[in-house]
Amino acid sequence: MKTKIIRVSNYYEDNIEEACNILKNGGLVAFPTETVYGLGALVSIPEAIRRIFLVKGRPFDNPLIVHVGSIEQMQMICYIEEKYFEIIKKITPGPITFVLRKKESVPVEITAGLDTVGVRFPSHPIAQRLALCAGAIAAPSANLSGKPSPTNFESVWEDLNGKIECIIDGGESVFGIESTIIDLTKDMPIILRPGPITVEELREIFGKVEVYQTKEDERPLAPGMKYKHYAPEKKLKLIDKDLLINYANKDVLILCTKETKERYLSEANNTYIIGSYAQPYTIAQNLYKSFRYIDKSPYQSAVIERLPEYGIFFSIMNRIKKASQGE
Ligand code: AMP
Ligand code: MG
Repeated sequence: MKTKIIRVSNYYEDNIEEACNILKNGGLVAFPTETVYGLGALVSIPEAIRRIFLVKGRPFDNPLIVHVGSIEQMQMICYIEEKYFEIIKKITPGPITFVLRKKESVPVEITAGLDTVGVRFPSHPIAQRLALCAGAIAAPSANLSGKPSPTNFESVWEDLNGKIECIIDGGESVFGIESTIIDLTKDMPIILRPGPITVEELREIFGKVEVYQTKEDERPLAPGMKYKHYAPEKKLKLIDKDLLINYANKDVLILCTKETKERYLSEANNTYIIGSYAQPYTIAQNLYKSFRYIDKSPYQSAVIERLPEYGIFFSIMNRIKKASQGE
């Protein structure tokens, strides 16, 4: 299959009608969002949704997130309890997914048989315009299962060229890690996946929230959590920043912050900068690109700097821990 490329530079004006028509005809379109690129099919076309799983090699019991272009469209997919309505209105659009009770019309393919659905109203204008023009879009990240989520056109192309109808190139994703997921169907809001909207911010918004951690013998609340997350083929170890010096000029790629490079590793030639402490969102933005680089690099294995675990760093460390094997 020839994959059509649509390049957009003016998010508000460039024509995306062709991508819209591809979706309406049951095709798959990879599109930019502010978190990572999504691989979309229309909620109303179950056959197209099934193809998402086949193309990605994604297990069918891992549900998809529905992307909408307005609160009204969100209400066509799920029930929003009155106590949450104003809050949701206030914090959307943005990099957060709400798990809510689903409406009848949402096909079982999307929710993996659950009576809840993950819904997101992204802030990226292209994602919004697509959903408003074509209809609500079910979309997981636009990578092959087992690869890091794509944060630019090149990564989507690497994984999906020739397998889907269309890719919209909208440049680099701003946040670079997947949306925060919060379950609003229980007594207390539960954060199922930390993300760009931080635990601290959510505590301010919702009051008390729980941060969910899967215990070993328990069925995970977010079904996706039971699957192996991305890990590079080469060994990746998590290392305290003052010990990274032991790997200087060895056959090991050192992924570190700009500050650690300057302070501890100025003489090392085997470093790769993942971003800056001073601007922690740059680390989130570059993280998956750095992960993809590990297996392409000439080095035998890699180490990555341990970061603190508050604010956005907590979400970043969540992804780093899944990709690495600890010490
Ligand atoms: P991805 O779009 O690839 O980031 O995957 C979507 C994530 O959302 C997976 O981890 C799913 O388990 C989670 N998810 C989607 N729908 C639900 C739901 N109804 N309840 C809990 N988690 C969900
Ligand atoms: Mg994914």
